Amino acid sequence: MANRKKYVGGNWKMNLNKEEAVALAKALAEKVTAEAPCEVAICPPFVYLDAISQALCEAGNKTLKLGAQDFWTEGNGAYTGEISLSQLKDVGVSVVLTGHSERRHVIGETDVLINEKNLKALEAGMEVIFCIGEKLEQREAGQTDAINAAQLSYGLAGVSAEQMKNIIIAYEPVWAIGTGKTATPEDAQKAHKAIREHLAAMYGKEVADGVRIQYGGSMKPANAGELMGQEDIDGGLIGGAALKADDFMGIVEAAK
Ligand code: PEP
Repeated sequence: MANRKKYVGGNWKMNLNKEEAVALAKALAEKVTAEAPCEVAICPPFVYLDAISQALCEAGNKTLKLGAQDFWTEGNGAYTGEISLSQLKDVGVSVVLTGHSERRHVIGETDVLINEKNLKALEAGMEVIFCIGEKLEQREAGQTDAINAAQLSYGLAGVSAEQMKNIIIAYEPVWAIGTGKTATPEDAQKAHKAIREHLAAMYGKEVADGVRIQYGGSMKPANAGELMGQEDIDGGLIGGAALKADDFMGIVEAAK
């Protein structure tokens, strides 16, 4: 079994107010120490990134990574409402999410844009949590592996084997996100294995064996251990359960 360090990310989405967001970050800063069993990142709403970055600094926490849920591909200029990678770096962000199903299917991001975002984020030296996953009707039509493979091929076009060290894949079946429905550990493992096989076809076995593949979709402390115990599941991307310090820490601890 390849020696991959597990990685748990918290996607706070458009939740919490400033006081709650900073309090949650401070609580996590106390608990996510250098002894944590896995790498840990949090992705708060944009408007709280600076305050949280300062809170992590004041707490002396260099372990908990700060991530952004999105960004725009250009460096600066007339892109009303958008935020650049350099602005994110300026406030201490080192991780970005790309390809999240809500951005694909609610906001309308295409594979082409997601690929551009992956390339620009890697160029900027960010760690990228690149999300993929099938919709319910695609799963029911037996297309899970084909959809994942296509999203990987499009999204990673032009990404070098060397750059793959900074890519984390998050497999998030769309029907499991925020619904309370979780893929069984066996089904999730099957999808993760197929994802790794596709990465091996793209980059070779050695690179594929080194890539962390998170599972996302209603992961909680009660199911995290069994999911992360599967051979090809290397952590989780967490939505709802990332909003409470105890729940999130329960998942982080389950990565042991
Ligand atoms: C997510 O949005 O990435 C996610 C996995 O959400 P939840 O854990 O709430 O299903």
